[in-house]
Amino acid sequence: MLEFKVINRDTRTKARAGFMQTDHGTIKTPVFMPVGTRGSVKAVEQRELLEMNAQIILGNTYHLFQRPGVDALQKFGGMHSFISWPRPILTDSGGFQILSLSDLRKLSPDGVEFRSHLDGATYFFTPEKTIEVERQIGADIIMVLDECAPYPAEKEYVSKSIELTHNWAMRCKERFETSQPLYNYNQYLFGIVQGGMYLDMRERSAKELVAADFDGYAIGGLAVGEPAEEMYNVTDFVTAILPEEKPRYLMGVGTPENLLEAIERGIDMFDCVMPTRNGRNAQVFTTEGTINIKNAVYKFEESPLCANCDCYTCKNFSKAYLRHLFNVDEILGLQLASLHNLRFFINLMEQTRLAITEGRFVEFKSENLTRLKNKKIMEEF
Ligand SMILES: [Zn+2]
Repeated sequence: MLEFKVINRDTRTKARAGFMQTDHGTIKTPVFMPVGTRGSVKAVEQRELLEMNAQIILGNTYHLFQRPGVDALQKFGGMHSFISWPRPILTDSGGFQILSLSDLRKLSPDGVEFRSHLDGATYFFTPEKTIEVERQIGADIIMVLDECAPYPAEKEYVSKSIELTHNWAMRCKERFETSQPLYNYNQYLFGIVQGGMYLDMRERSAKELVAADFDGYAIGGLAVGEPAEEMYNVTDFVTAILPEEKPRYLMGVGTPENLLEAIERGIDMFDCVMPTRNGRNAQVFTTEGTINIKNAVYKFEESPLCANCDCYTCKNFSKAYLRHLFNVDEILGLQLASLHNLRFFINLMEQTRLAITEGRFVEFKSENLTRLKNKKIMEEF
């Protein structure tokens, strides 16, 4: 079992600070996990991730299975050594990518058949196959194969979907328990709560998974286009069912505001492509909200992207230089903006954790939300 301890609980909300212990190191929560889908966090070096205190990164099973292939990963002793990353890794099962990327997919009770979006080859992923591939990749935390219902979806569809997902989760667990890690360290398996926006479906999914006793629980199928309030409601509802002593992971979320709201509702772990994707598009996160660094108002601006940020970008460069890099399409612009954005998210989690341990989470959240809203108004002028 994954060792996870909550060390501080906010007395006024469900926010909590804790840590989990993997063979590749301790992860302090709440935690933001940079996304390295294909074995690389886009435009950011591994040494920069270490320097900015990224505690754990993500890889994606569907992508890594296709390229470089599990044979290559196995030759190198797993993903950690292949990409030279000494800290924990989590792999998404690939269910979401199978559904969204493959040209052709056939869902059956036994698994999902799909045609690769790369070479047209056909593969069949059963829950058992997914676990085998995740063993070969060798992440510390691995996810069950699930089906993420689209939004919006009819209740009848969602009902069938969570039945399938539950079935697959149990089969994943069975294979996980009857197989061994291929490398010299432990792996842990998380279940994924689905159920769309229907609370009774969410309840069914969560209760069934909790009964099966996973190492941790993810909430999937959110941030798929629903209003933020609906995402918060579902999150609040599900965390009330999930056990206190297991980590909770809200998949694919979100903005700094989303993170603070979800932490208030009892979430410990997050992943999102937003810091790197937005960074590559000149969108920079700051404590005063998001700015577009290509904006002409920054032509002579000497200040760093974000006051008080301790990242390499902010310690060394002005807004004017970043604006220039983007305007002349220099690769360094993408790198520096991505680096800053990631550190911004990681720093936000570190500050939040401190606020929880010092009993001032509510005040911290409210101050931050007020500030985060500022810039959006200013930039509109
Ligand atoms: Zn910075």
